[in-house]
Amino acid sequence: MRFLVLSLVALGLVACQNAPVTGRSQFIMVNESEVASMSSGEFSKMKKLPNDARLAKIKEIGLKIVASARRDDRSGVLPPAAKWEFAIIDDKSPNAFAMPGGRIGFNSGMFQYAPTDDDVAVILGHEVSHVICRHGAERISQGLGVAMVAAITDEATKNKSSQTRATWMAAVGVGAQVGILLPFSRSHESEADHLGLMFMARAGYNPEAAPAFWARFAKIGGSRPPEFLSTHPADATRIKQLQAWLPEAKAQMPSKP
Ligand SMILES: [Zn+2]
Repeated sequence: MRFLVLSLVALGLVACQNAPVTGRSQFIMVNESEVASMSSGEFSKMKKLPNDARLAKIKEIGLKIVASARRDDRSGVLPPAAKWEFAIIDDKSPNAFAMPGGRIGFNSGMFQYAPTDDDVAVILGHEVSHVICRHGAERISQGLGVAMVAAITDEATKNKSSQTRATWMAAVGVGAQVGILLPFSRSHESEADHLGLMFMARAGYNPEAAPAFWARFAKIGGSRPPEFLSTHPADATRIKQLQAWLPEAKAQMPSKP
């Protein structure tokens, strides 16, 4: 155990930080670049649809969201626009994700719930917010206990077991792809909803699409990946919060010429 703690300190992985934008204090003991490089490997393995005509739209909207989020990114968490990769994932479950290091995946099964650009902006705004707030790294650090610390040390020594990889990916919100169900916490979801709404509005999309999207999404049955489960936060609370934040979001919208 002492060896474990010493190695973490030696690697400079132990740190208390403040969440970008909100300033909420966070306990993060993993290196963001470590999470990013792990994500990169997993992203490259996903089955993508590179010739899907809708990819250009995802990229266009994603880049606008990233640009508006970067204006708040004083800690430099988000890579510059040119570094971001976008993909449509060949997966019928309604999910989307943004990974640390600048990778955005949008499942083919998500399009039917996101018919307009505003809807896509709601989803990508929410996902980019998880990244700017380092929720993935925070979850790895917070909730997963000694086993996870061991796994991080394991990772630091480059012994990557598939179990370790799966846990890391679940922590950055790609649980469905790797078979671990691990939804973001309620506070992470609220933080991502709030910031996502500001980012989409600032990028010129209509924030009123957000409460409408989540209300619609709450009604669908069947199995959903953890990131888009209705329970975090509870649907009614989430929609009420989004509506309460609308005036703040609208004030961020670029004025029409
Ligand atoms: Zn989320």
